[in-house]
Parts: sequence; structure tokens; C-alpha cells
Amino acid sequence: MLDMKWIRQHSKAVQEAADRKGIAFSVEELLQADENRRRLLTQTEEGRQARNRLSQEVGRHLQEGRQSEAETAKAQVKEWNLRLSFLEEHLQKADTVVHELLLLAPNITSPDTPAGASDADNVAVRHVGSLPEWAFAPRDHMALAELHRLADVPRGVKTGGARSYYLTGAGVALHRAVQQLAMDMLAERGYQWMEVPLLVRGEALVNTGFFPLGRDQVYRVEGADSYLAGTSEVPLVSFYAGEIVDVDQPLRLAASSVCFRSEVGAAGRDVRGLYRVHQFSKVEQVVLCRNDPEESERLLQEITANAEELLRRLELPYRVMAVCAGDMSQKTYKQYDIETWMPSREAYGETHSSSNLHDFQARRANIRYRDSEGKLRFCHTLNNTMVATPRILIPLLENHQEEDGSVRIPAALQPYMNGLTKLEPPQ
Ligand code: AMP
Repeated sequence: MLDMKWIRQHSKAVQEAADRKGIAFSVEELLQADENRRRLLTQTEEGRQARNRLSQEVGRHLQEGRQSEAETAKAQVKEWNLRLSFLEEHLQKADTVVHELLLLAPNITSPDTPAGASDADNVAVRHVGSLPEWAFAPRDHMALAELHRLADVPRGVKTGGARSYYLTGAGVALHRAVQQLAMDMLAERGYQWMEVPLLVRGEALVNTGFFPLGRDQVYRVEGADSYLAGTSEVPLVSFYAGEIVDVDQPLRLAASSVCFRSEVGAAGRDVRGLYRVHQFSKVEQVVLCRNDPEESERLLQEITANAEELLRRLELPYRVMAVCAGDMSQKTYKQYDIETWMPSREAYGETHSSSNLHDFQARRANIRYRDSEGKLRFCHTLNNTMVATPRILIPLLENHQEEDGSVRIPAALQPYMNGLTKLEPPQ
């Protein structure tokens, strides 16, 4: 959420951000609603003052024995009370209208955010690692998964419906190994581990900027104000909702959690294999820091570098993309996606998403700290994937395959796989 006063002063920038992000939002409508609310507020406050003056007059008249003047003033108080209840009701409605419109207002984007309408307009910042070259026809991850009995999609669909899967045997071991490597790397870097609630209230989703716009992406528990979190970013940020925190040192958090996504709007896309599923697991980094653009920019680079280091340890080629405005969500100020090479797609596929939200989430969630002058300010919040499975298994299996179908286990994963150096095809 943006500050209403700030929006009044920067209305053009807000409208431009909405247009650049492709979000249907009219700053003019918000400004008019705000003006109406402020007019009603002034009228209500003036009315309250008038009513209070008359109430005092009633007291004075009564004290001084002026019964009929007291009765006249009393009748006027009654009239004001009636008028005020009408004004207060309208003010409350006007407040709600402004609040609801404010929830739709997009964050502005950083000056270095590329313009563009979709992911095709994202700009590569760097490429790391070299692409594999084979003298044989490489298998795709599903063929490798079948060969090594790592996953079972048909039975996943039988049990869970479309976009469901089982991981089995060494598939589970690989999934747990990458997750644990990711958590250990974050612990080494001072990130506090958290085990988080995945059933969250609607308020937590509003506070973190997933509602109201992304409502259809989230599964709701029928009949309850309870939703399945699509990312642990929601409970991690919400941990501090309504609190005054100490961010002299940034608060660095890490959680490994299951994520649930309806993937509405993705019908027909990525239907084969493990790329786009309704339930996956993600190690997430969340950071809260001071309201200082330089500090949050440094932290954006830090959380991006953490994920890049993990990919280097997994020996996977990747590229970092500066995400364009049209591919950003409402809440994002600046974003990088990391895309890892997926041979079967003959393309890089998104595996990580690293965002600086400035104070957009903290303002909604009311997370503040005291600055050096004792003034209360909203924090900046950031988040990035550290690793997400099963998607990361796609590049992991495909890039490390050998001609006979073996899959090499990168050295960094071997300690998490009981020292296993290779998945060998069954004889
Ligand atoms: P996001 O939280 O949407 O930025 O996504 C972070 C990462 O989670 C993505 O880069 C993917 O690696 C993974 N991910 C997101 N959605 C899905 C999905 N439906 N199925 C599998 N992995 C996903």
C-alpha cells in the first residue's frame, strides 16, 4: 500500500506505474474518493465542535436558570446528533471506499526497471555457467524420472487431480537434499529458520499484497477465513504484523514450506511433467530492514546472490533477468528472476524470483521501527526463492545426465544423499 498523502503529491507516477504494470487502476478515482472522504471528515469534525459547543451551552443555561434557552439548545444538540450520525455513516463508507481503492494501487517501480509488457521483455543481466553439449540425444526430466523411479505423475493425477505428482525413492532424497542444502546455506549466512503456519487468514494475504488482486490464485478452506498459503513469504512477513521491530540489523528469515497455487490463468501451459504443479515445496528468504532504499537495494543483491550461489553449487547454468514492469506484480518495486537452463525446453526456465517491495507490504501489515531520531517508520521488505522443488529437479536431472541415463550428483549434494555420487539406471 502506498501512503495517501504521497499519492496526492505523486499521482502521475502512480498512474504511470499502474499503466506500466498493466493493472486496471484509476488514480483519479482514488483522488476523488479521498477528496470526498476529507470533505466529509471536515464536515463531521465541524459538526462535532458545533454539537459540543451547544451541549456546553445547555449546561450553562441550566446552571444559570434559563430553562427555555436550555430547551432550545437541547433541541439543537438533538438535531446535530441526527445530522452527525448521518455524516458519520457516510464518512465510514467513504473511508472504506478509499481503503479498498488504496489496496488496488500498485507500488511504483525502481528507475532501473525495464519497460515492457511481459516476460519476453525482461532483460538479461548476466549469464553464468556453460550450457551442456552432448553427443547423444538427451532425455527429458520425465524420462529420467521414470528410468530412476523418481516421480509418478499418473498416480499423482489419480489421487490429486491435474498438476499433481508423487515423488518416490531417490526423487524424495533429491528433493530433501536440495531443500536441506538451501536451509543450511541460509543458516550459515545468518538467516533464522522458521517453521510457519500454512493455513493463513485473509488479513495476512491482504497485508502481504496477495489480496485482493490475487484472490483467484489462492485456495480457500470452505466456510472459513482460512487460506492455503502459496508461499511462506505470507506467514514470514506476517510474523511481525502490527509490531514495532528492531531492524538495526536486517531481520533475515528462512522457511521451508509446501506452497499451494490454483494456477488459474495457466490452463494449457506447462502441462507436461513437474514444471507447473498445484503443490510444491520452497525454501524462501524474507528480509526486513530500515526504510532506506540503499540498504534494501544491497539486500536485494544479497538474497539474489544467495540463490545464485546455490545454483553454482548445484553446478547449473543460469541467467539473471531484470524483470520488466509488465511482468511484475502490484506490490513489487524491483525484481530479478533467475532462470536455470532446462535442456528439454531448449530454454531457460524461471526457478527463482527476487523482489524488493520497499515499504508496500510493511505499510499494509503495519510493521514499523524507530529510526535514529525516535520516529516510527515503515520497514522495507524483500523476498527471494532459495530453491523450489520439484521445479529445480528439472535442470538438476537434465543437465547432469549421461549417455546411459545415469545422473551425476553434484558434490554439494552428496553429503545430503548418503555420499551417493550418481544415480545409476537399474540393471
Ligand atoms: P514465486 O513465489 O511465484 O515468485 O515463485 C517462486 C518460484 O517457485 C518459482 O520461480 C518456481 O521455481 C516455483 N514455483 C512457482 N509456482 C510454481 C508452480 N505452480 N509449480 C512449481 N513450481 C512453482
